[in-house]
Amino acid sequence: MSKIICLDAGHGLKTAGKITLSGIHEWELNNKVCNYITEILTACGVTVVRVDDITGNTDVPLATRMAKIKALNPIASVSIHHNAGGGLGIESWVRNGARADSIAIAKLMTEKVSASTGLRNRGVKYGLLYMTTICNFPTILFEGGFMDSADMDYIVTEAGQRAYAKGVADTLIAYFGLVAETVNNEPVVATPVVAPAPTPAVVKPGIDVTYQVGNSRGAWLPNVVNDSDYAGIENRAIQGIMASLSKGSIRYRVHTIGGGWLPFVNDRTDFAGVWGRNIDGVQMALNNLPGYSVQYRVSLIGSTDYLPWVADLSDYAGIFGRQIDKLQIRIA
Ligand SMILES: [Zn+2]
Repeated sequence: MSKIICLDAGHGLKTAGKITLSGIHEWELNNKVCNYITEILTACGVTVVRVDDITGNTDVPLATRMAKIKALNPIASVSIHHNAGGGLGIESWVRNGARADSIAIAKLMTEKVSASTGLRNRGVKYGLLYMTTICNFPTILFEGGFMDSADMDYIVTEAGQRAYAKGVADTLIAYFGLVAETVNNEPVVATPVVAPAPTPAVVKPGIDVTYQVGNSRGAWLPNVVNDSDYAGIENRAIQGIMASLSKGSIRYRVHTIGGGWLPFVNDRTDFAGVWGRNIDGVQMALNNLPGYSVQYRVSLIGSTDYLPWVADLSDYAGIFGRQIDKLQIRIA
């Protein structure tokens, strides 16, 4: 069975009131963002099901949308909206008492959409919105910028809509460990994407990365070279990281659960981490090594899959709030 993700573009084409200053209906914007999200997720083998009317002609009642979603039992449901009221920025919504995964996805989504669009991150909000009804799967409603503020200058452009969509899709890809599939002309017939396929290492000759992790003070695990193995122990939270190169210099930092980013560490002048605090995010970059890139990925406690590879500082590896048990690094 292919994984199902439900999307809905909020409202309908003719819904009164939901309109930008220049007269664009909110549904039109929501619809475009939904279409771009669908493009990305479909390429990962996900079956995306829209529960609004994709012609926009009908503003499908919320109860009907929710009943369809429940019947499909997706891995997640995301309702796509744009805000009004004259503020600036993006925000996600969940219910009071929402499932932990709804909250984690909502939080990651605000971070990723804010990063991809450049719009202000207003964080996760809690309220009684119908599309965040607590179900057997995570339910999130996302507001991607204000229709009646300067946000709209960007959000009405294709670039802005694709950036909004990318932030939402990347969140689901990271959270559920989805991977893009090779495109073929066959109809997609129940292609489960369970674990990201191991990506072949592309190690340029000359630079090896050697790294190790610690689970607590004095408990450093053996060094690992490149992605021949991983550093870590299944289901033991990582608290410290050290890394160095066979040639040149690397810097890296970690984010701790409930804390923030710690300072960057160069090579093995120190280690990144604080004993007693579990790590939930990792970032790495090479120092003055043009033409080379450091790639790294982590797996989360409670999951056998790795999250996608991250290159340099394009993103971070991890999901805030989730413990990491394994790390892989390679130089490409
Ligand atoms: Zn709306």
